[in-house]
Amino acid sequence: MLEEIFAPQSVAVVGASPDPSRLGHRVLKNVIDNGYQGRIYPIHPTAKAVLGQTAYPSVAAVPDEVELAVLVIPPQHVLNVAEECGQKGVRGLVVITAGFKEVGGEGVKLEHQLVEIVQRYGMRMVGPNCLGVIDTVSHLNASFAALMPADGEIAFMSQSGAVCTAILDWSKEANIGFSRFVSLGNKSDVDEVALLQAWGNDPQNKVILAYLEGISDGPGFIQAAREVTKRTPVIAIKSGTTAAGTRAISSHTGSLAGSESAYESAFGQSGIVRARTMEQLFDFALVFAYQPLLAGPRVAIVTNAGGPGIIATDAIERDGLQMAEFSPATISHLQANLPPTANVYNPIDVIGDAKADRYRTGIEMALADPNVDAVLVLFTPQAGSEAEATVEAMAELSANQSKPIVASFMGAYSIKPALKLLNQHKIPNYEFPERAVAALAAMWQHRRWREQPALTYARFDVDKDHVRDLFAQVREAGRVELGEIEAREVMAAYGMRLPDSRLARSPEEAAEIAKEIGFPVVMKISSPDILHKSDIGGVRVGIADPQAASDSYELIAYRARKFSPNARIWGVLVQEMARKGREVLVGVSRDPQFGALIGVGMGGIYVEVLKDVVFRLAPLSREEVREQLRAIRSFPLLQGVRGEQTADLEAVEDIVLRVSQLVSDFPEIVEMDINPLVVYNRGEGVIVLDARIILQG
Ligand code: ADP
Ligand code: MG
Repeated sequence: MLEEIFAPQSVAVVGASPDPSRLGHRVLKNVIDNGYQGRIYPIHPTAKAVLGQTAYPSVAAVPDEVELAVLVIPPQHVLNVAEECGQKGVRGLVVITAGFKEVGGEGVKLEHQLVEIVQRYGMRMVGPNCLGVIDTVSHLNASFAALMPADGEIAFMSQSGAVCTAILDWSKEANIGFSRFVSLGNKSDVDEVALLQAWGNDPQNKVILAYLEGISDGPGFIQAAREVTKRTPVIAIKSGTTAAGTRAISSHTGSLAGSESAYESAFGQSGIVRARTMEQLFDFALVFAYQPLLAGPRVAIVTNAGGPGIIATDAIERDGLQMAEFSPATISHLQANLPPTANVYNPIDVIGDAKADRYRTGIEMALADPNVDAVLVLFTPQAGSEAEATVEAMAELSANQSKPIVASFMGAYSIKPALKLLNQHKIPNYEFPERAVAALAAMWQHRRWREQPALTYARFDVDKDHVRDLFAQVREAGRVELGEIEAREVMAAYGMRLPDSRLARSPEEAAEIAKEIGFPVVMKISSPDILHKSDIGGVRVGIADPQAASDSYELIAYRARKFSPNARIWGVLVQEMARKGREVLVGVSRDPQFGALIGVGMGGIYVEVLKDVVFRLAPLSREEVREQLRAIRSFPLLQGVRGEQTADLEAVEDIVLRVSQLVSDFPEIVEMDINPLVVYNRGEGVIVLDARIILQG
């Protein structure tokens, strides 16, 4: 668990200067001043002692073992010192020094060399270019932060050092404690994955927070997060978006997917609670750090004002929680013990003139009711209110409770002591009710994730070899794009149903094929250079007789020549006309960090207008696909509205799973659209009417 970084037996501070204005001095002072119990070695070329500790000219000169070395020296000396540390048997490095990858050019090279040394000696390294690490459990502050945070159960990692200092400063004022506090810097060795693994097994961390600007190893991150989040909640905020690849996007799916959907999916599919704002990051952290995990979604509200109660009620419905319905016993008890004007149904309104005793009654009853999973206490300062006594009552009632209790004491000026008291009693307080509700909703999200049964991955019997050969042929022809006629073969090899169809090379042949297939037919231009066929008028549907078929051939070929004069024309595809159903899009776009994203949404020609496509990362389990379908805004259209029958959702799931298998088998597929996939009523299946694939160039 990275003991060498967080709980070493001894620490050397390389660059520990006697000059108080130097960073190295500050770091040494932090190591000394905060209760660290191990041996401390300042390293300085000339000083005999720094801050009362015997100093040594080099790490090698230290007469004893050194487990962790903190480097606060100019970048040009870092490689030599790292090498010396390796030889000395140092196990952990915290490289505070900047001037590496972040400056580009030579810095990039320097960082590569540093990593090489670290790996050669089997050391672990935080940084370079970081603020350092703080561990309140071992009382080690190996950073140049101006403050030592209070003890606590929140483990925090940040890719930005500036965010670290801001959070530390704020936490001091708010009296929020941390177990670990790490500035990741350039994270060239210890990264978010290593910290998740190290922290996820340690009960000292009740919740893990991450401020991330990018993720180095997408699949590794997902795998680590999936395991950790089954035990420990992880809350992350992702700032900025990664640069989209340089590859030109040419599919619908590609244009709809972005790095945002990749992060959204990665977090969601690995059980990470995503914070949208910095405020939320800590709003959520507090409820996890301070309160027991909620068991269900039913919330009871106790309030002394109607308005905030309604706001909270709305937020509860909106955030996927439920208003608890009290048992008859609770209601009659409340009726007997509260004034007749009080509301005894949820929200319990103890009325504006309530003192602490009425709050006590309401909260006690709510906590005792088996239909309640969490209690939200709303408080507005009014004449006669007893803010502190109310908090005391909450603290007493919530002690040894298995249900979480959260507060929204609104105001600031007159309730300062009460706010402090709430924090002391580890009752998370939120300035406004919506934030309290969002925190409970985050808990509920985590709870559901933990209880979700193991995922099941389907494996279909497919003709992988055929697809491999086909891709090789396409590449041999100097192409990376597969139009309908080739993509059809791929879909067929992966067990998908397609309309009967054949390529005609002349108007006469078109009429012949149409007769064999049976009228009506659909005719489509077939060209490796025309991927959006309708755009050039290259699709005609409902062709009813041989004459119309041969005329259509002429017309389609004419349009192709006119609108796309350089296109190679293979002919015209004559296709069985499928009966109408609901049109769905299933597509693929590959994200540079996380791999294949599979999108599902409402299809047809309006996909890019409606933008109603939901993405998830492959490989997908059936459970995830089921959830994905339900996340589509127009899902009710698939379910059937106004007497319509339900669509064959299971058949859609199967297609998505087959696509998932296909892109896992062939990482060279960078984009793909099945559009439309026509979906019939339940039990009647689906059919792929059009498909295209783009391979890695
Ligand atoms: P494009 O390259 O323009 O996407 P498609 O093959 O998807 O061409 O055809 C455009 C539209 O024509 C489809 O969205 C669908 O509504 C209709 N269509 C295509 N093929 C068939 C078919 N075999 N049966 C019925 N309708 C079809
Ligand atoms: Mg299409």
